[in-house]
Amino acid sequence: MKLLEEHIIKYGTALNNEVLKVDSFINHQIDPNLMMKLAKDIQDYFKEKEITKIVTIETSGIAPSVFLGYLLNVPVVYLKKNSSKIIGTNCYQTVIHSFTKDVDYLITCDKKYIKESDKVLFVDDFMANGEACLGAIDILKQANASIEGIAIIIEKAFQSGRQKVEALGYDIYSLARIASLENGNITFTE
Ligand code: 5GP
Repeated sequence: MKLLEEHIIKYGTALNNEVLKVDSFINHQIDPNLMMKLAKDIQDYFKEKEITKIVTIETSGIAPSVFLGYLLNVPVVYLKKNSSKIIGTNCYQTVIHSFTKDVDYLITCDKKYIKESDKVLFVDDFMANGEACLGAIDILKQANASIEGIAIIIEKAFQSGRQKVEALGYDIYSLARIASLENGNITFTE
């Protein structure tokens, strides 16, 4: 998406060859106008799908998901990051390895918020090695929900996430695909 690429070039910073900082419009300060446009783009891509729920992971997936949930008129559920391993049996849970923090963390979801009848679109801010997405897929499978697609705001195409998730047969729509962050230069795939 051209507008997102322009924002990334104008306001994004390559912290190193692997990490992109976009704090000024996604990860710290949020640009609601941009979020609505991103949500409309995702809505358009998945227009043939009948979606009953948006699922994301806290924190940065929540903003685009809420705009999309508003457009589709469906609820948004965010998977919670928990530090405690002691949670009740009324929750689905799985462990995710964080790319940016290099630690494992537990994500949980109350069973009452995802049902077998749900047709889910999973949304997240970034895809790197696909761990967050695979964790969400694990939770959705535990709930026997159907996964209609995956929308990612910024995919780092030089990392392994897409390969892993596509190998499982899922449709991933990324609004911007970064080819490289080498030497501070942000480039996109064709
Ligand atoms: P993955 O699980 O695909 O390896 O990494 C995705 C998660 O890590 C995203 O939910 C995001 O929070 C974080 N992440 C991965 N790469 C980046 C990055 O380059 N910049 C930022 N801001 N977050 C990232």
